[in-house]
Amino acid sequence: MSIYNAPAQDTTFVLDQLVKFDKLCEALKLEEVNLELANVIVEEAGKLAAEVLAPLNAQGDANGAKLVDGKVQESPGYADAYQQYMANGWATLTAPEEFGGQALPNVVGTAVNELWHSANMAFALCPMLTQGSIEALIAHGSDELKALYLPRLISGEWTGTMNLTEPSAGSDLAAVATKAVPNDDHYLITGQKIYITWGDHQMTPNIVHLVLARLPDAPAGVKGISLFIVPKFLLDENGEPGELNDAKCISLEHKLGIHASPTCTLSFGDKGGAVGYLVGQANKGLAYMFTMMNHARQSVGLQGLSISERAYQQAVWYAKDRLQGTRKDGSKMPIIEHPDVRRMLMAQRAGCEATRGLALVAAAEIDRAHAGEAEASARVELLTPIVKGWMTEMANELTSLNIQVHGGMGFIEEAGAAQHYRDARILAIYEGTNGIQALDLIGRKTISDQGAALALLLQEMAGVEAELRAAGLDKFANRYAASVARATEVREWILQNAAADRQVMGAVAFDFLMLMGYLSGAWIMARSAASAKQLLAEDSAYDASFLNAKVATARFYAEHYLPRAEQHAQTLMTGLDAVFILDDDQF
Ligand SMILES: Cc1cc2nc3c(=O)[nH]c(=O)nc-3n(C[C@H](O)[C@H](O)[C@H](O)COP(=O)(O)OP(=O)(O)OC[C@H]3O[C@@H](n4cnc5c(N)ncnc54)[C@H](O)[C@@H]3O)c2cc1C
Repeated sequence: MSIYNAPAQDTTFVLDQLVKFDKLCEALKLEEVNLELANVIVEEAGKLAAEVLAPLNAQGDANGAKLVDGKVQESPGYADAYQQYMANGWATLTAPEEFGGQALPNVVGTAVNELWHSANMAFALCPMLTQGSIEALIAHGSDELKALYLPRLISGEWTGTMNLTEPSAGSDLAAVATKAVPNDDHYLITGQKIYITWGDHQMTPNIVHLVLARLPDAPAGVKGISLFIVPKFLLDENGEPGELNDAKCISLEHKLGIHASPTCTLSFGDKGGAVGYLVGQANKGLAYMFTMMNHARQSVGLQGLSISERAYQQAVWYAKDRLQGTRKDGSKMPIIEHPDVRRMLMAQRAGCEATRGLALVAAAEIDRAHAGEAEASARVELLTPIVKGWMTEMANELTSLNIQVHGGMGFIEEAGAAQHYRDARILAIYEGTNGIQALDLIGRKTISDQGAALALLLQEMAGVEAELRAAGLDKFANRYAASVARATEVREWILQNAAADRQVMGAVAFDFLMLMGYLSGAWIMARSAASAKQLLAEDSAYDASFLNAKVATARFYAEHYLPRAEQHAQTLMTGLDAVFILDDDQF
């Protein structure tokens, strides 16, 4: 089933009630942007997502990208869909006006990106990676590189790729071995990059590769990596794509999912060296990558929500349609009436609403950081690994529930549930595995500042208890307050027990990530429920049925998901003991 409808009302609710979108626009000095405009944009994007991209999703899965005569041929229909996406200006949404962008807030881009990824994640990866190259160039490129490449990347006329990974350099980028040798006004790049998303295709007249490589005299390790632009076609004197550069796709991976997204092995310099141009200063490449990391990682977390939402909609459709079992009056019942199916649908719904809220709240913190709000940068740093790590773990569970709702049919490819599950599995792996996200959260984001940013977040979370009580949601308030108190205890435990010992920190990091994920979800759902109650008491523009459902879904979250925070806290505080009981050779 290719049914997909943008969850517009929930997006509006989050932008309005949690993000406080109009105030955010004031802070960003965007006088002409407001919630009404954001709603129109989301609605329009929803049409392209539902009508053009969603129907191509299953088709791209069955008929993925192929390598034909040394060129990657994208799935049928994708080039046309890309043209529509580009022609309607969607690529330009959040980019700066001086290079042809519309300068809308990041949170609007995030709300819209949710729809692209829901409709067709394999497709949407292409603009997502382009976004990364745009950010790198804006932040670190010379004026000349910006003028040559940015307008066309921003318009979507060309696409971008990110080339970090090599066979021996995955999580550990210190091992990057690709070489860059100075040659006149440019560098000659030689080496091999693997797993490069949309590394080749025929949808646009050029592709701009951003490549990490080492100069001959570079120091060893992470401090010797530089960033280069390597266009597929070199630009002629008019800035138009001309001669083919010495960089090509030599193979495509056969993968578990996202078949329409070509995952390329790119070989640079088989004929002597691909022409590359240094971005920013030498040896700063990895630091530059970190400047884009928050956005890129949040985008992957968002993909987790997107695919879970698509899977949820499919599960609801199937649960209403599939008859199994007999009612007391003898009539056949749709499976949505069975309590266990109901539980699974509620789990999907609550998971999607909590992660949507978190994704948009975190995205708005990036906007606030840009607007110079003092605590926003630290908040972005703290929330990013939670958005990436927890939301993608949730996606594995939520897309699996869709299969379960379908019963045997879920395991059969024709139903389409399996595709979402397969597609979602990469999310916990790329853009830094969730193991790496967990280490980032506990190390760089918590221990490094002695838990300062975390203390502020926990304090803010604690304040929501009063909102719950004022809304008459006392049971939720009790559970919620207990979890916030537990997380506060865990913070102390980490600072006392893990800070001095890398092994302990590594052993407990994942439980900490998950604890913070479930708690952050509860924070979002608590605020949502309190707002919904308030709106129900007023004469609001929201449907009463939507608001009542919001309160009910939040209650489900508090009863079914929040207890997991306690479980992770308990496991965490056992420390290293059980993890390292066995010697390596006992495995
Ligand atoms: C479909 C797909 C698309 C991709 N797209 C791109 C792309 O466009 N550009 C790009 O550059 N790369 C891309 N990648 C690469 C991706 O980012 C890496 O696969 C990922 O970072 C993990 O690296 P690895 O595969 O080498 O795993 P490894 O680093 O070998 O990790 C294996 C396991 O060990 C764990 N581990 C490793 N080091 C540590 C550590 N220090 N502490 C704790 N645990 C650790 C990991 O968490 C993991 O569980 C893509 C990969 C895939 C599969």
